[in-house]
Amino acid sequence: MVSKVEVNKVVSVHYTGSYTDGEVFDTSEGREPLLFLVGHGQMVSGFEQEMLGAEIGEKREFTLTPEKAYGMRDESAIQKVPKSQFPDDMQLVPGMVLGAQSDRGPVQFSVVSIDDDEVTVDFNHQMAGMTLRFSVEVIGIREATREELAHGHAHGLGGINH
Ligand code: ZN
Repeated sequence: MVSKVEVNKVVSVHYTGSYTDGEVFDTSEGREPLLFLVGHGQMVSGFEQEMLGAEIGEKREFTLTPEKAYGMRDESAIQKVPKSQFPDDMQLVPGMVLGAQSDRGPVQFSVVSIDDDEVTVDFNHQMAGMTLRFSVEVIGIREATREELAHGHAHGLGGINH
């Protein structure tokens, strides 16, 4: 039976992601292939949908609209936070990306601007609102281990190790 990309399989791929103007934002070229467990939210939904059914050696190219990638930008995700909530010795610079703990786990945000007593921050994903292109080649497909299924991610080189 030929293995195909499907839910609960661990797939390794070489990929290149670019913006619509052709600028590459990420690629596995020169690195180990990316390893991911299909169907557990490790990749954006559109990426998995486009790769379902692909076999080893198959190459696919596709374009993801923001809805199928990192979502639309949400203006309400831009918020003002009192400067006193940041450590005194922190050098705040527009564009810097910081992490914080929220009720829903760790979140990332970027600093938009800094006033005397307020900092404007943006909780939108860096790639929200963007249409993204991917070129992907399937390198390997294997069954997920019980541990990987329990963790919801792939283990090993190119995957997550915990
Ligand atoms: Zn794990």
